[in-house]
Amino acid sequence: MITTYIGLGANLDDPRAQIMRAIEELAALPDSRLLASSGLYRSAPLPCPEQAGEPDQPDYFNAVSRLETRLRPHALLDALQAIEQAHGRRRDARRWGPRPLDLDILLYGNQQLEDERLRLPHVGMAQRHFVLYPLRELAPGSLEIPGHGSLADLLEKCSQDGLEKITS
Ligand code: ATP
Ligand code: MG
Ligand code: MG
Repeated sequence: MITTYIGLGANLDDPRAQIMRAIEELAALPDSRLLASSGLYRSAPLPCPEQAGEPDQPDYFNAVSRLETRLRPHALLDALQAIEQAHGRRRDARRWGPRPLDLDILLYGNQQLEDERLRLPHVGMAQRHFVLYPLRELAPGSLEIPGHGSLADLLEKCSQDGLEKITS
């Protein structure tokens, strides 16, 4: 079994309920065991160039889960994308647009990988408060993010401003 961390995000269609249901669906994945989930966090959407001039998106809700799995990375991604689809995610929708559910593989053991479908660790996780703070609930500061240093070091460089913890 490999220990993985999954980032959950939602900002449409009752996002809290989307995340709660997705956590149950992670628990039901084959050849896997859900070990823990963080509390739920709320934050304003990241500013991104594609959205310049567009009306504001709703706030995001985020959490992180720790999952042990025997699924290989691409099989795990397939399973996560199937859950996103079942939540009404449209894959043709533009990246960073509003979505009912986003499931990202943050870490897959200490594996580093990069191909057309999958990059591990997840791009951007090292700078995102809505990833690092929930992750801190589940992992020790000594956790190594391959290519980026320890979780504790990353937290030191990442402000919690704008991130609100709403449930434990
Ligand atoms: P971001 O990746 O910046 O959080 P996003 O989650 O909104 O943005 P998506 O539209 O969900 O982006 O995914 C775009 C593509 O990213 C997916 O089709 C998937 O193949 C790819 N991808 C690469 N690495 C990963 C990963 N570690 N976890 C999930 N998807 C990944
Ligand atoms: Mg994402
Ligand atoms: Mg994604």
